[in-house]
Amino acid sequence: MVGAFDTLHETLKLGIGDSTDSSRSGAYTTFFKDYTYAGYVRRILTNAFTGIAVQPGMPGNPASPQAICVSSPGQLQIRRGENLFDMHIECTKRPPNHAYILTGTSLIVVCPSFFDIPMAPAPGSSDCLPVIGFLNRFSEPGRRLIEYQIYVLLHEISHYYTYAASQTRFDHYDINTCFHLGPLISSQNAQNYAFYVASKSFLSLGKP
Ligand SMILES: [Zn+2]
Repeated sequence: MVGAFDTLHETLKLGIGDSTDSSRSGAYTTFFKDYTYAGYVRRILTNAFTGIAVQPGMPGNPASPQAICVSSPGQLQIRRGENLFDMHIECTKRPPNHAYILTGTSLIVVCPSFFDIPMAPAPGSSDCLPVIGFLNRFSEPGRRLIEYQIYVLLHEISHYYTYAASQTRFDHYDINTCFHLGPLISSQNAQNYAFYVASKSFLSLGKP
């Protein structure tokens, strides 16, 4: 877990540097389109990098996002209105959640299946992405690109900071859907941050 945060921290530098670059990289324009919201995107990435405390949306003190590992039933239960939700049950739905954020709080629930996926992609021997690029389709709607602990964490941390910044929570997952979002929504969709930083961890990416 600590290793995943360390590796994510290093990886984020690539995205922050790239989003500052006026050369308009293929990765940036693929996942965020034009540079209208580049300042916003950079702020979310920089917040994820520093873990700065912000107001998560409910009355209370500013907080940094906090990961909590939920490993058994009854460990963490949240009351919403009349209903009591067990966070372990949310983890074990099919397909299992690797992690999710409790919107409006600073808690990121890390589920048991999180530990079944690799921490980060292994360095490849070539610059090519492991995707099938024909017909504008990635294999497994892009999951092969981002089903790693570091991108799961980045997805949830992006939710935290985009919610704090704009009180929105978008969850478009499929890479083709993410690609077709306009600049405003893509800058607020957690998965676009994961795809963007994942694509920057390779050397370059054209349009899918
Ligand atoms: Zn999400």
